Amino acid sequence: MDDHQLDLREGRLKLYALEKVLPADEAVRVRREYIEEETATDLSPLGAYTIQIDRVVQRNCENMIGCVQVPVGVAGPVSVKGEYAEGSFWLPLATTEGALVASVNRGCSAILKAGGAEVRILRDGMTRAPVFAAKSVIHAHEVAAFAEDHLLEIQEIAESTTSHGELIGMVPYIVGTSVFIRFEFDTKDAMGMNMVTIASQKAAEYIAAETGARLVALSGNMCADKKPSAINLVEGRGKTVTAGVFLSDALVREVFKCDVASLVDVNVRKNLVGSARAGALGFNAHAANIFAALYIACGQDPAHVVEGSSCITTADPMDGGVYVAVTLPAVQVGTVGGGTGIATQAACLSLLGVSGSGDPPGAHAKAFAEIIGAGVLAGELSLLGALAAQHLAKAHKELGRG
Ligand code: NAP
Repeated sequence: MDDHQLDLREGRLKLYALEKVLPADEAVRVRREYIEEETATDLSPLGAYTIQIDRVVQRNCENMIGCVQVPVGVAGPVSVKGEYAEGSFWLPLATTEGALVASVNRGCSAILKAGGAEVRILRDGMTRAPVFAAKSVIHAHEVAAFAEDHLLEIQEIAESTTSHGELIGMVPYIVGTSVFIRFEFDTKDAMGMNMVTIASQKAAEYIAAETGARLVALSGNMCADKKPSAINLVEGRGKTVTAGVFLSDALVREVFKCDVASLVDVNVRKNLVGSARAGALGFNAHAANIFAALYIACGQDPAHVVEGSSCITTADPMDGGVYVAVTLPAVQVGTVGGGTGIATQAACLSLLGVSGSGDPPGAHAKAFAEIIGAGVLAGELSLLGALAAQHLAKAHKELGRG
C-alpha cells in the first residue's frame, strides 16, 4: 500500500481529492486500487484505456476509477436528404446488444435503395422551467404576466451569461400558487443543458426580485429533463425531427421478405394500437435502441434516451408501396460541450462530419439530429420488416446468442 492509499484509509485524504495531489492518470489508478483493496474486487480491466483524462476528470466524471469499454459497430451508409445533412453516413453504434447493428444496417440498405431518407427539423429549442412560489393565485397570475410583459429584459439578462445561447421564448404555467416558466433557448451546437441552466438562473432571480415570488427550484420538472412527459411529446424539447422514405412493393419484398400490407398491419396494431392500450408515451418499435447506441458512441447525455423513446412511427400505404416515417419530438444533441470532446466520442462525431462548432453555429448539431432521424427510421423499418416476416426470433437466435 502506498502513502496515498494509507492516507485514504486513515481519512487524511478524501477519495475525491486525489487529483489535487496527483496527476490525473495516477489519481485514477490509486483510487481504483484503493477500491479494489476495500472491496476485494479485481478492477484491473477498467485501467486499460486510451483517452486523455486530464479534462475528463475535471468536466465529465468525478471519482474516476477507469473506463468501461463499449463495442462500436457501424451501420450504413445511410443516405440522408436533410437541410443540414446531405449525403451518405456511416452510423457509429456503441452497443452490447447483439443484432442491433445488423438490424439498423438492413434498414440503411433499404433507405439507400429507396433513394434516401427525407429529413426535416420542425422546431429547435432547449428548455428549462424554474418553479416559483407565489403568495396567492392572484399573485401567481401577476408573476406570469410580469414575465410575459418583460420578455425583452429577461432575454437580455439570460443572454448575458452566454455568447451562443438565445432565449427564443417562454411559456408560463400556473398550478395554485406555483408558477412554472418554461424558458426555451436556441443553443446552437451545444445540447445546452448547462448553458440554459446558467442563463435561466439569472432570468429567474430577476423575476423573483421584481415580483416578490420565491424562486423554489431552478428546475420545476416542467422542462422536462430525462423524464417521460406529455409536454415534451406535444411541445418538443431540443430538436423535433421527422424522417421518412417511400419504399416500393418490390423493395419491401426484396429487403424485408414481406409485403406492404403486413408491414402496415404490424405498424398499426403494434406501434399505434398496442402502444395506446399500454398507455405508452412512445409509439414505435425500438427507437430507444438507436438513440442509446448513437448517444453513447457520440458523447451525448445517454439519459436523454428517455425523450428519444417518444418517437411516433407511421406507415402510410400509397400507390405502389408505403411511406414510412418517424417523428421524434425531442432530440437533445450537441457537437460541442459535455462528452463530445473526449477523443473516442469526438472521433465518432467526426465520422459523421459534425464534430465541434458548425458554420454557422448550430449547423453541426442540426445535421447530427437529421442523421439521427434517418438512423431511427432505419431501425424502425428493419424491426417492422422482421416482425412482419416473422423473422425476429430467428435473427436474435443467430446474432444475439453466443
Ligand atoms: P457545456 O459543456 O456546459 O457548454 C458548452 C459551451 O460551449 C457553451 O456554453 C458555449 O459557450 C460553448 N460553445 C462553443 N462553441 C459553441 C457553439 N458552436 N454552439 C454552442 N455553444 C458553443 O455543454 P451544454 O451543452 O450546455 O451542457 C451539456 C452538459 O450538460 C452535458 O454534460 C450534460 O450531461 C449536462 N447536463 C446538465 C444539466 C444541468 O441541469 N446543468 C442537466 C442535464 C445534463 P457560451 O455559453 O459561452 O457561448
